[in-house]
Amino acid sequence: MKILVVNAGSSSLKYQLIDMETEGVLAKGNVERIGIKGSVLKAKGNGKEKVYEQDMPSHKIAIELVLKALTDEEVGVISSMTEIGAVGHRVVASGEYFKAPTLVTPEVIKTLEEKTFELAPLHNPAAATGLRACMDVMPGTPMVLVFDSSFHQTMPEKAYMFGIKYEDYKAYGVRKYGAHGTSHKFVSQEAAKYMGKKPEDLKIVTCHLGNGSSISAVDGGKCVDTSMSFTPLDGVLMGTRSGCIDASAVEFLARKKGLNAADMVTYLNKECGVAGISGVSSDFRDLIAGAEQGNTRCQLALDMFAYQTKKFVGSYAAAMGGLDCIVFTAGIGENTPIIRAGVCEGLEFLGVKLDKKSNEGKNTGAIREISAKGSKVKVLVIPTNEELVIARETLALV
Ligand code: AMP
Repeated sequence: MKILVVNAGSSSLKYQLIDMETEGVLAKGNVERIGIKGSVLKAKGNGKEKVYEQDMPSHKIAIELVLKALTDEEVGVISSMTEIGAVGHRVVASGEYFKAPTLVTPEVIKTLEEKTFELAPLHNPAAATGLRACMDVMPGTPMVLVFDSSFHQTMPEKAYMFGIKYEDYKAYGVRKYGAHGTSHKFVSQEAAKYMGKKPEDLKIVTCHLGNGSSISAVDGGKCVDTSMSFTPLDGVLMGTRSGCIDASAVEFLARKKGLNAADMVTYLNKECGVAGISGVSSDFRDLIAGAEQGNTRCQLALDMFAYQTKKFVGSYAAAMGGLDCIVFTAGIGENTPIIRAGVCEGLEFLGVKLDKKSNEGKNTGAIREISAKGSKVKVLVIPTNEELVIARETLALV
């Protein structure tokens, strides 16, 4: 079966068409500036790329163009859209409404739209728009929602609860949900495969370090804790997100800066993190270049990021009562040796021993072992593949 994976943002849409027999990517692409002047679709297939520059005022028009590209003479890989067996949609937040990937029905759409939008106001409405657009253009094709938070549903209550009034948790669903679940699931399973062990026999900390970063404790194949919580703002500092911060400091800062609650959340999401610390950039390549030229704030941002990540690794080893493997993935995790070294430094007492040369080796796009021979804890770099997980979950349901 061929499965189309759709990741819709408010003005963007990424897709991959995956042949599930081989799990190979047949075609992929992304649309940018939906609803904004200058919309563009970059479509890849048959080893070629085609750029479609035309007005795409809605997600529906964008999906129609994607289907045109998939059946195009040059970059097309199917003869008709009936060859698409199902569509898997990435959805950021599920709240407590969806515990697992879910086949779309009218009832499911109602819950998605009425209950979950306020949990991820930027992402979930976009996913619903993408879903409705696909349903319009591909009536009769099964649609599946795959949630970023599904993998974290196994967290025990003691891990996902905040120390607030229990009645308020019950009334408003304010608790830890986590994010990047598909990535944490994929790399933890790949790590077990690589180590030739069953996931049930391993205690793994997965570090998804990208523009958004989260760290998870995966014990026996199940997520038992994760660093992002009610929203992706929690955990380590990120590109532009503050990460965890004392709630009283938030109120204090809001008063000093004259910001209301909503503006303050925007400030913490968009103006803080390593970009706010360095005053230079949210991109780690710029921070590394800045630090090399003696910019101490760039260095501080890098040090804070590695230090905070290390603290999660240590605390999750404690939570699981052991550690067999640390996995680094995503843009920073896969490409930034000095961050990996900074995270692992000082964890020798847990049995972590990095191999300097392997850590500094080139990113090959394959799994790389960067721990030293004899290191009790394996340290692996594993390229993430969230689309493949979404396609697998979709296949399993249809
Ligand atoms: P992601 O959100 O996973 O796409 O990761 C994006 C981030 O990864 C960028 O903002 C960069 O900070 C980082 N990144 C990507 N490529 C590199 C690289 N070659 N070297 C250092 N950092 C990188």
